[in-house]
Amino acid sequence: MLENDKEKFRSIVIFGPPGSGKGTVSAFLSAFDEFYHLSSGDIFRGLSKESPNGKIFYQYAGKGELVPDDVTVTIWHNYVQGLIATNRFFPEKQRLLLDGVPRTEPQVKAFTPYIQVERIIVLEVKDKEQLIKRLQARAFIERRMDDMDRAVLETRMQVYDSQTAAVLKHYPKEIISRVNASQSKLEVVRDVLNELIQK
Ligand code: ADP
Repeated sequence: MLENDKEKFRSIVIFGPPGSGKGTVSAFLSAFDEFYHLSSGDIFRGLSKESPNGKIFYQYAGKGELVPDDVTVTIWHNYVQGLIATNRFFPEKQRLLLDGVPRTEPQVKAFTPYIQVERIIVLEVKDKEQLIKRLQARAFIERRMDDMDRAVLETRMQVYDSQTAAVLKHYPKEIISRVNASQSKLEVVRDVLNELIQK
């Protein structure tokens, strides 16, 4: 465990409901080598379906539910250590773009020893139907089983409202930037850049 703030990974949290564009914004920003995009969903989807952790992931994600917190934190932390050991992520030079964590209130606490949250970009899309349409369009391109089924999508939206949105109240207001993510991708990226430049 890292005791000193200086040893924590400097992080920008890209936050928002499923379909709000966290991956799109993160992919854009990670064109700059000062950032490293780390998506918990991508980490989980990279697990072999036959592995013990992969089985746990598909069991929960298939229903639109969250993977238990302890499993999530362990997998995430092991993955980051692997990135450092293989010279892909350089914590002294790069900031993490955290996409998908922390996603519950207990995760806020569990991730605190590892991350120093410098800014939170909240991608806001108020219209649930717009989110569901985006996810359904993505499902066929990315073969995301959890995005194909309407009932699973609705569960994912409910999980965001009931478990994830409350994460924000654990961070100071001054580091939270809200961006209207129902705009076009270019406009969203522009607004995110403005937030990152001004603050
Ligand atoms: P989206 O960006 O569309 O919300 P993700 O790719 O981030 O979806 O996540 C897909 C699934 O992976 C989630 O529904 C959940 O089951 C699991 N997952 C991702 N991140 C976490 C997390 N921090 N805690 C628990 N489960 C997670």
